[in-house]
Amino acid sequence: MTEIVLVGAAGRMGRAVMEAMGESPDLRLKACVDRAPQPGGNAVPWGEDAAAFIARGDVVIEFGTAAAAEGAARAAAAAGAGLVSGSTGLSTAAEALLREVSARVPVVRSANFSIGILALRAALNAALAILPEGFDVEIIERHHRTKQDSPSGTALLLATDVARGRGVATPALKHGRQGSAGAARPSGEIGIHAVRGGDWVGDHTLLLGGMGEWLELRHVAQSRRAFAEGALAAARFVARAVPGLYTLEDVMAARSR
Ligand code: NAD
Repeated sequence: MTEIVLVGAAGRMGRAVMEAMGESPDLRLKACVDRAPQPGGNAVPWGEDAAAFIARGDVVIEFGTAAAAEGAARAAAAAGAGLVSGSTGLSTAAEALLREVSARVPVVRSANFSIGILALRAALNAALAILPEGFDVEIIERHHRTKQDSPSGTALLLATDVARGRGVATPALKHGRQGSAGAARPSGEIGIHAVRGGDWVGDHTLLLGGMGEWLELRHVAQSRRAFAEGALAAARFVARAVPGLYTLEDVMAARSR
């Protein structure tokens, strides 16, 4: 039985993880961490300070904010607990902290825990291997009106995949387009367009445009359950892993072994 400490428990993702845990007899929700007060009907130990609940061998699942991610990482490392980190919009320093912490405890970090996005990325890699470099790439992402970070962590991940697929270390991003371009669209540029509104869970479209033809690859998350299931798979992986920084690909590869 793996004991889970859930950080960001009152949030949309926290609630989705709790719901998915209800069908996971191998995982026990030990404690909930959130700044928000404990909702009625929740009988699990609840507080603001992750460190107060985490013990060696536990797994911390975190979907909160940048501050929550950093706090959870420090507390997990201090206690010797594994970490599943899902918050997006982290600073470079916060990402560096996660890498530092992974020298001491196993950490799975992903901007998107849905298995469909893994398949989208594999399809993207396959397309890039076939298409000439001259195909232009534009990424359109759509999320609910309260999403804090733009563009989404997943859009940035996809842009990095495109750049890597073309042998470029850092993607040349163009966020939105307005006004006169003055010249033709630079080859190799990756356009990113963030759409915000309503309660849209998460939608990523990759457009690959050539002369006379277009290709469109799209993933739509209709429910946060898609992310929650991936996060629980990551928690099971982390419970058995040695310290290191892992991706969702590592989790899925271990599942199929
Ligand atoms: P949300 O705003 O609904 O929930 C965030 C929760 O974190 C809130 O309950 C808030 O009170 C709590 N919180 C804020 N600061 C805290 C702190 N210091 N310590 C503990 N709790 C704190 O947001 P959400 O939609 O649940 O998303 C949370 C994060 O997860 C965002 O960064 C989002 O982009 C990301 N996300 C990641 C994935 C993925 O697959 N990796 C999927 C969906 C969302």
